Amino acid sequence: MIPMVDLKEELETLKEPILKSLIDVLESGEYILGKKGKEIENLIATYIGTPYGIGVGNGTDALYLSLRSLDIGPGDEVITTPFTFFATGEAIAQVGAKPVFVDIENDTYNINPTKIREKITSNTKAIIVVHLYGQAAKMTEIMELAEEFNLKVIEDACQAIGTEYRGKRVGGIGDIGCFSFFPSKNLGAYGDGGMIVTKHKNLYEKISILRNHGSTIKYRHSLIGINSRLDEFQAAIVLVKFKYLDIFLHKRKEVARRYTEELKGIIKTPSIATTKEHTFHQYCVELDKRDQLSNFLQQHEIASAIYYPIPLHLQEAFRYLNYQKGDFPVAERVANKILALPIFPSMTFKQQDKVISVLKSFIEKDSGK
Ligand SMILES: *Cc1c(COP(=O)(O)O)cnc(C)c1O
Repeated sequence: MIPMVDLKEELETLKEPILKSLIDVLESGEYILGKKGKEIENLIATYIGTPYGIGVGNGTDALYLSLRSLDIGPGDEVITTPFTFFATGEAIAQVGAKPVFVDIENDTYNINPTKIREKITSNTKAIIVVHLYGQAAKMTEIMELAEEFNLKVIEDACQAIGTEYRGKRVGGIGDIGCFSFFPSKNLGAYGDGGMIVTKHKNLYEKISILRNHGSTIKYRHSLIGINSRLDEFQAAIVLVKFKYLDIFLHKRKEVARRYTEELKGIIKTPSIATTKEHTFHQYCVELDKRDQLSNFLQQHEIASAIYYPIPLHLQEAFRYLNYQKGDFPVAERVANKILALPIFPSMTFKQQDKVISVLKSFIEKDSGK
């Protein structure tokens, strides 16, 4: 079976340095907010191009803490895309604010900047931009709107660490950037983990306090926070993997380049602005007979996945927002047609060939009918 990601293969090559890094933590006696956490905070902040990094429990908490640090809560509205992982909208609801969705672009599947303006009200406080599948959203247009209406911009870069946009890495363009170290992400831990980056000192200080029970001095609490610190063992793992991040991203792009070369013209392949602006957390094709293709691949021992089958505005949990089917036609179309193919850094040529040839034979078989 060709899996969507092969973490076992990756572990084979990294096992030794990872074990060493874990033993460092065991023997240090520092298990919460220790040296490894601090080290990865600094490395990632520098990599993204921001002065501050704050390790947190996971990507969802990164979004939640970002909103809290900006004092966003009940009565406020936050604009975002309906075509993302649930956590993006969930975090907005967690702080008591109202998620306001804006449809996506036909080609990039990211929020459509030309449709944001009409959704801005006097209650709008922020935009959460998602760089879906690793592809940068149109940040120039979004930052201009944010400036015009005095809105904060949070980048949900959970799928896009290392993606560039016009010479800057995503996560470092808006006010706050959020990353996830969920195991299957492009920089994954072996458990939950996350990171916030920011250029604002006041937000850095506030988030550092909020993630640690609203406290800087033990047993003195200035804010109601949460317990969401980056686990020291996970930090130790991410530190090792971080050294390989650019190599991993390069390999993903190579697989994507081959897929596109072989498949363009016979199926809708991802559209990309420049090769720097997509790091291919997912490689998705779009077709009417998506479910048939998925079954066909399965029969030939190739995994595939749907990210995401139900847009956020049609999720049961968001029924209280009173959205209807048809409100976001592009997101709804894509949810019915999108299919992610296997892509991971250690994917062999042979595996790539198999995916390509099986997909081609599906299309031929289909058109021959
Ligand atoms: C993975 C992901 C998250 C949540 O990250 P967790 O670490 O799983 O909490 C949020 N947004 C997007 C777009 C993601 O892909």
